[in-house]
Amino acid sequence: MPNPVFAGLPTSIFQHMTILAQAHDALNLGQGFPDQDGPMALREVAARALVDGPNQYPPSKGLGVLRQAVAGHARQFYGLSYDPEDEVLVTSGGTEAIAGSLMALAGQGDEVVMIEPTYDSYRPMAEAVGAVVKTVKLAPPGWRLTEEVLRAAIGPGTRAVLINSPHNPAGRVFSREEMETLAKVVLETDAVVICDEVYEHLVFDGLPHIPLATLPGMRERCVRIGSAGKIFSLTGWKVGWVTGPRELVGLVFKAHQFLTFTTPPALQTGVAHGLRHEMDFPRALTARLQGNRDILAAGLTRLGFAVQPCEGTYFLTADISNLTNEKDFAFCERLIREAGVALIPLSAFFKSGTPDTFVRFAFCKQQSLIEQSLERLEKYFTVP
Ligand code: GLN
Repeated sequence: MPNPVFAGLPTSIFQHMTILAQAHDALNLGQGFPDQDGPMALREVAARALVDGPNQYPPSKGLGVLRQAVAGHARQFYGLSYDPEDEVLVTSGGTEAIAGSLMALAGQGDEVVMIEPTYDSYRPMAEAVGAVVKTVKLAPPGWRLTEEVLRAAIGPGTRAVLINSPHNPAGRVFSREEMETLAKVVLETDAVVICDEVYEHLVFDGLPHIPLATLPGMRERCVRIGSAGKIFSLTGWKVGWVTGPRELVGLVFKAHQFLTFTTPPALQTGVAHGLRHEMDFPRALTARLQGNRDILAAGLTRLGFAVQPCEGTYFLTADISNLTNEKDFAFCERLIREAGVALIPLSAFFKSGTPDTFVRFAFCKQQSLIEQSLERLEKYFTVP
């Protein structure tokens, strides 16, 4: 019998909406990928490495030069110290890092807690390893983590917590206070924490990103996941990493060796260069994204969307109930066909399917595309 976890799944919501967008020539504010590639110098380093070689298997844990750069990045930005030898693991993107972490750190019947709205790969991967998923439910408006919702899900039976900050799709960057509450609740248990921090540099309005691992007692419990795709607008490269205490990273390494074994060496060389020499890129990107967010939020508010606060990531959420009686999914499909703009229905991130009147906009695009999308929406909603 095929594995029912996967056999029962539809095509991912991101692929579904992108394919539909292409078929209708719609502007794609659905799937979150930038429409401009990252730093040329970084790409040139990778191209040179590809031409010069070697192009054979790099070490399974990643090239030394990249592991050192990842450790240097954690030290530079957060004062976190990881040994590049056995506390850093290079993966084929954040998605592989999440899969490997779940496979390695949880097993049959273990409770794994994750935040809902939940990024699409989390639940199937946890269920595929036989874990029992419990959710910490965030609610609009505000999508805030409270002690009450945390305690409702995390307890003595929790084996692992999967936390995502900055949070996709909610656009939240959990505050120090929210992180401290999470740490307090976790420290009462034996749980480990898988911290998906792929949007760590895309934080707006000067807010800090607080890795859970920086809080007292948490470094030994946390594996942190990072992504060159998000830092350098190279999402197709699929270069990511895991950092954490050697006991936990060592376990994730065991899963990684049989998932992808390794990651293309030229891309690793390019990313190592980026982490050392191109960190101005994410700074400039963040400023640009913040501008896009503001233009989008103002335009949508004018049109009657109830825009939720957005503190980071590529994404903004909004309530559509002032505009339509439809559910989010039907609304998104209609907008692609009739307005020529693709979005993601937020119910795709909830097991129960509710709330079902919210949509997610990706604004990691050129400003002109955001403006064009707003013009299309304006025309659609205001012309009778
Ligand atoms: N992370 C992207 C998003 O949230 C999707 C990536 C994918 O399609 N797997 O839009």
